[in-house]
Amino acid sequence: MAQKNLDWENIGFSYIKTDYRYVSNYKDGKWDDGQITEDSTIVMSEDAGVLHYAQECFEGLKAYRTEDNRIVCFRPDLNAERMVDSATRLEMPPFPKERFIKAVEEVVKANEDWVPPYGSGATLYIRPVMFATGNVIGVNPADEYQFRIFCTPVGPYFKGGAKPISIKVSDFDRAAPHGTGNIKAGLNYAMSLHPIVKAHEEGFAENLYLDAGTRTYVEETGGANIIFVDKDGNLVIPRSYTDSILPSVTRRSIAYVAEHVLGLKVEERPVKLEEVSSFVEMGLCGTAAVISPVGKITDHGKVYEIPSGMDEMGPVIKKLYDTLTGIQMGHIEGPAGWVHEIKK
Ligand SMILES: *Cc1c(COP(=O)(O)O)cnc(C)c1O
Repeated sequence: MAQKNLDWENIGFSYIKTDYRYVSNYKDGKWDDGQITEDSTIVMSEDAGVLHYAQECFEGLKAYRTEDNRIVCFRPDLNAERMVDSATRLEMPPFPKERFIKAVEEVVKANEDWVPPYGSGATLYIRPVMFATGNVIGVNPADEYQFRIFCTPVGPYFKGGAKPISIKVSDFDRAAPHGTGNIKAGLNYAMSLHPIVKAHEEGFAENLYLDAGTRTYVEETGGANIIFVDKDGNLVIPRSYTDSILPSVTRRSIAYVAEHVLGLKVEERPVKLEEVSSFVEMGLCGTAAVISPVGKITDHGKVYEIPSGMDEMGPVIKKLYDTLTGIQMGHIEGPAGWVHEIKK
């Protein structure tokens, strides 16, 4: 076994096929024992439920090396629980939490050579996915499923520091009130592709989605939750009164760190778009970037310039970023169980 010789700093964020993946199939009312396999392809019926009625959900987390060369991941229990919630909402059989965590460990250990070296900024991105393989014609849940975890090395999200981004208020909606916005389902992304392509063409990095019911409140972007810092240095987290924001592991961890490690006041409440002009810092949170600072929001003719500007992260968000990544990397002691050891 030897570490792969990749240009870790420059591999970017695209699929690189690694050696092993984990697969378990659901049939006759139960998940089989599951196994590690080298086969990266999937053969299924033309009538598989996933192809017609989008019965699919996924997760995303990452494994990385600590300074003392252990391989760890971050709060996989929350990804396991969220996938149970996603599956339940989509009438799919949940994959048990303990088995999910064990499968993550097995896949990462099997692909140990693909875990980037400490300090490279690169990580091993882990993608659990579950989908209906059983035949459906009438609109019904299928009776067969596959749960799979593969992983792929990804480069540092920010090369040379996190630059604030410019985003736009989308003319499209992401998630219906009381719909599926609070689960990690591929269907939430299918409809976001057209808006993101258009936003990129117009020079924006992301779309800011408002609540679809009234287009008044800030919800999230296509793939990241939002945090604000107000004038008094408090953290303000948009809450959806229609439960259409995805519960980000990163955002929940940031809220905990803000309150319990940094002693900030944390408010989670509905936030109107027009209120944005009263905030001094803004960030997007998700596994990939941890926090991306936002410098500017364009709402058609109106532009909200966030006072922290377009040059660097604001001081509070920087502190949150440094503390959370410090905990992830093991430089700062975090709450028990957050850093999950896979290999010593
Ligand atoms: C995955 C995802 C996030 C980020 O969640 P993390 O658990 O922090 O990676 C935010 N919003 C949406 C819509 C997502 O799908």
